[in-house]
Amino acid sequence: MRAAAGNIHVSGSERILYEPDVEKVLGELICRALSSYTQPDEIIISVDEIEPRSITYIQSLDVKTVESDSCLSAEETATQILESDGISPELIKKVFNILRGGTAAEGNNMRGAIIMDASSGNRIEPDISRGIRVSRIDYTEEARGLLEKELHRYGIYHTRVIEALAIASKVCRRAETIAELCWSDNPDYTTGYVASATNGYIRITNMKEKGSPRGGRVLFVNTAGLSLDDYINYLERQPVLINKIGNIHAP
Ligand code: AMP
Repeated sequence: MRAAAGNIHVSGSERILYEPDVEKVLGELICRALSSYTQPDEIIISVDEIEPRSITYIQSLDVKTVESDSCLSAEETATQILESDGISPELIKKVFNILRGGTAAEGNNMRGAIIMDASSGNRIEPDISRGIRVSRIDYTEEARGLLEKELHRYGIYHTRVIEALAIASKVCRRAETIAELCWSDNPDYTTGYVASATNGYIRITNMKEKGSPRGGRVLFVNTAGLSLDDYINYLERQPVLINKIGNIHAP
């Protein structure tokens, strides 16, 4: 599902379902779109059949939380983590400026992610106004139930964590992905994250000012030996189901 207002992306969600569940979940997706921070004037839902044998099963990343008391300290935390993954401080600064200023034209938000060559600092997604939309990712019912239970146990339950953890787990599964940085464009949701295969999914509070409608996603990639078409095809088309939940740490 993706929803837009005046051609500007306001909400999106991806699911993989058994056919009998489709009708029920379509209703949930429409409710989700209608409860966006801004009333959408367009909601697009597309449903594709998936061949069960084509599904890859994975474990979700471990979840950790760093509480920060300001955007500045959130940026410092994110910088330390991204540097530990090998991203240069200059590139991290550049990316923070892009996400804070709006990833699309005229300071608006893209509906997909930026793909950033971690060595040159160049954006390499083919359409820089759209980005790459990570799709065809979900949890098995059992894994989703367990994740919900664990998130509730630690007081960090939020549908955004569930959806973003799924995206990050799919993205970080690929060897080309060095790390991901993201925060929501929802003005009320200020917790962002940094994710990588080595560090897991690290939630960082106060990543942006409350009330800011700016958000975005950046995938830092290693371009040595990268087939961009193959990488994008994986992110957009390869069905991936999470059937095991990584460790959830107390905040
Ligand atoms: P959200 O956390 O849903 O508010 O998304 C934050 C930003 O990430 C959005 O403004 C988009 O630029 C981007 N985004 C959202 N969903 C996806 C997705 N499935 N794949 C890639 N980028 C996304």
